[in-house]
Amino acid sequence: MINQERIKNLLLEFVQIDSHSRKERDIAERIKKYCEEMGAQVEIDDAGEKVGGNSGNVIARFPGTIPNAPSIMMSAHMDTVVPGEGVKPIIEGDIIRTDESTVPGGDDKSGCAVIIEVIRCLQEQNIPHTPIEAIFSICEEVGLLGAKNVDVSKLKAKYGIVFDSDDPGFLFTKGPSSNHMEFKIHGLESHAGVAPEEGISAIKIAAEGLVNMKLGRIDEETTANIGLISGGMATNIIPNLVVLNGEARSHSEEKLEAQTQHMKKCLEDAAAKYEVTVAGKTTKASVESHIERDYSSMDVPDSSHVVQLVIQAAKRMGLDVKTMASGGGCDANVFNRKGIECANLGTGMRAIHTVKEWLDVKDMYAAAEMTLEIMKLNGELAGK
Ligand SMILES: [Zn+2]
Repeated sequence: MINQERIKNLLLEFVQIDSHSRKERDIAERIKKYCEEMGAQVEIDDAGEKVGGNSGNVIARFPGTIPNAPSIMMSAHMDTVVPGEGVKPIIEGDIIRTDESTVPGGDDKSGCAVIIEVIRCLQEQNIPHTPIEAIFSICEEVGLLGAKNVDVSKLKAKYGIVFDSDDPGFLFTKGPSSNHMEFKIHGLESHAGVAPEEGISAIKIAAEGLVNMKLGRIDEETTANIGLISGGMATNIIPNLVVLNGEARSHSEEKLEAQTQHMKKCLEDAAAKYEVTVAGKTTKASVESHIERDYSSMDVPDSSHVVQLVIQAAKRMGLDVKTMASGGGCDANVFNRKGIECANLGTGMRAIHTVKEWLDVKDMYAAAEMTLEIMKLNGELAGK
């Protein structure tokens, strides 16, 4: 059994430590301290320097109690989305929320709390277990940057669990690939009242391109969004630049490529219609596209060791865990690509990435209880 009071208090403690992406040092130090107190060898890696943050990933290696057993990874991210500073948790029965001036940050402090509580229980209750490599990552929310910079050659685990989704009854084993896009639309500036025929409005081109662009849910496997738009200088200047930032995701690489090219082409087609000639010099509107792979898909088969471990452990508890496809990306996408087969287990966080985020601690207890059983079963299988 896990200690409900203790894990709840740990969550409340963690959510009150500010940790926007790239500012995770305080929580990293706290987690490092707790892991060291539990006998782990702990390192804060150099990922922070690489991504311009004030802390790296916390990598805690806990020795196992079973000779020659393979390591298992457990991972959660320490950073939160904005606005997430000065969190004052409100506790209403089993529900933890805020006054909606900030997110509570159960995403993903609940995952961090689950990992620590489970390891504490394994040790206190003398439950035979394998070595554990716990990775508390930075900058998940800004592009999985912490996970991307984990040096997996220094890790032993070949499989593991990421704790970073909502319902503990679901195990996410499939996730999409995602492209990030930035489009710079170049027009030509000119005085809007004196010489409008000598300008090209980048805002108008953006609008025309967007009208023709398929966005939102494209099909079962594919989504797309333009999430940011900026441009223009004043009402009396024809705008010469608009910058659009967006993304597309798909479980299919082909569909992702098609959607990405579609978005680019919509803007290029709109731009192609505009040119002006001023004093013998012709200027054509243009689009500069920067397309970057954010993360690549994951697809862990139900027959894999880690999925079976979770399903069998749940079964022993009389529970039914379903594998699912997620529309989001998380550190698990990155770890899978780096050769650590892992799935993403829910911890109870809800309405994430909004100030209305809430968490039912009973779900977090259930996630921790199940994880304890998973580690127990993992130890039994390794000891055979
Ligand atoms: Zn998260």
